[in-house]
Amino acid sequence: MTIGQPESGGEFDLVVLGAGSGGYACALRAAQLGMSVALIEKGELGGTCLHRGCIPTKALLHAGEDADEVRESAAVGVQATLQGIDMAQVNTYKAGVVNRLYKGLQGLVKSRGITYVQGEGRLVAPNAVEVDGARLVGRTIVLATGSYARTLPGSDIGGRVMTSDQALQLEWIPQSVIVLGGGVIGVEFASVWKSFGSDVTIVEALPRLVPSEDESSSKALERAFRKRGIKFSTGKRVSSVQQNEAGVQVTVEDGTTFEADLLLVAVGRGPSTAGLGYEEQGIAMDRGFVLTDDHLRTNVPGVYAVGDIVPGLQLAHRGFAQGIFVAEHLAGVKALLDDVNVEDKGCVEKVYRGLLAGMSAPGALSHLERPNYDFARWIAAKMS
Ligand SMILES: Cc1cc2nc3c(=O)[nH]c(=O)nc-3n(C[C@H](O)[C@H](O)[C@H](O)COP(=O)(O)OP(=O)(O)OC[C@H]3O[C@@H](n4cnc5c(N)ncnc54)[C@H](O)[C@@H]3O)c2cc1C
Repeated sequence: MTIGQPESGGEFDLVVLGAGSGGYACALRAAQLGMSVALIEKGELGGTCLHRGCIPTKALLHAGEDADEVRESAAVGVQATLQGIDMAQVNTYKAGVVNRLYKGLQGLVKSRGITYVQGEGRLVAPNAVEVDGARLVGRTIVLATGSYARTLPGSDIGGRVMTSDQALQLEWIPQSVIVLGGGVIGVEFASVWKSFGSDVTIVEALPRLVPSEDESSSKALERAFRKRGIKFSTGKRVSSVQQNEAGVQVTVEDGTTFEADLLLVAVGRGPSTAGLGYEEQGIAMDRGFVLTDDHLRTNVPGVYAVGDIVPGLQLAHRGFAQGIFVAEHLAGVKALLDDVNVEDKGCVEKVYRGLLAGMSAPGALSHLERPNYDFARWIAAKMS
């Protein structure tokens, strides 16, 4: 990877701000198509999906499924006993999976001759991003700064109250957990902890789990969770959250109180766009999201946006697809993806096919991610 010299700046065909799924896919494809590219990242190349999202959660789900298989092995005539979960080893396994992919991605960025700039960038002109005082000028700028875990007003993160970022670093298995939010991230953690032996309760304000999916998928998931003993309360908002040395207490609006060792706040993700100069450069925004047209162009000529900062499903394969689409659009080649709205291509419906087909619960949950892997492999094949 070419580590850029931020102090000297430079001029490029394309400057990408943010090296998560959307940003790096765009940079890789643009470089492959012959453009000079600068890719700016304040954290780690790979972003949320690789380091704090899809990949580590899938590693945990895998470990959870293995535990469930041992528990259920007698049913197929295999005598085995689950001795326990060694969380240190689970975390070592998880880190190994992430690191392998991280190294691969670093190698790919290097081999494409992309100038990788480590530092926090800010849009200072429609064609320039500043990093540590250096100005990186691009014929085109792609904004890909991703998202952060939202919290609830009145429930500060800390101690026994955490978001997915801290939950992924946990070195112990709670005896009991409350998961606030029954969206995709909440139900994944609920499944992992249940498989690891925790007593799990999900509290969801809307009437059903995974409320942004179709009703039959929710019903199938709820049935599977009931069978596994994962409890849930739907249709009630949280009115208060308290924690002390002994545990956390969550009260919902009808007065029901839940108590547990730990609370995961999984109430959605907000766009990471504040203070990055977007509004100052005149980019049209809506509640922090960057508005784009059907070619992912913002209202400011030469500035595009991809991934979680663009209104729509906040999923990695959508970010990849959008990043690649923009690179190809800029290069004037026939787009590999004919539609940037991945949700319209049936990917998301496929996500729940496993559940709808009535697979066993743990198997079904890991099946949720199958399309991501298939999609990523397909993209990798196209880009190699
Ligand atoms: C727990 C969890 C599990 C998930 N599981 C799945 C899953 O199974 N499947 C799926 O499809 N999606 C999943 N997602 C969602 C997926 O991670 C995101 O949709 C995807 O990462 C979005 O990509 P992005 O490029 O838009 O943003 P990000 O991946 O968030 O990348 C943005 C990058 O920009 C950087 N950045 C921000 N501001 C600046 C700045 N000023 N200067 C320089 N760099 C900056 C950030 O450090 C970050 O690395 C999950 C998310 C979470 C949290």
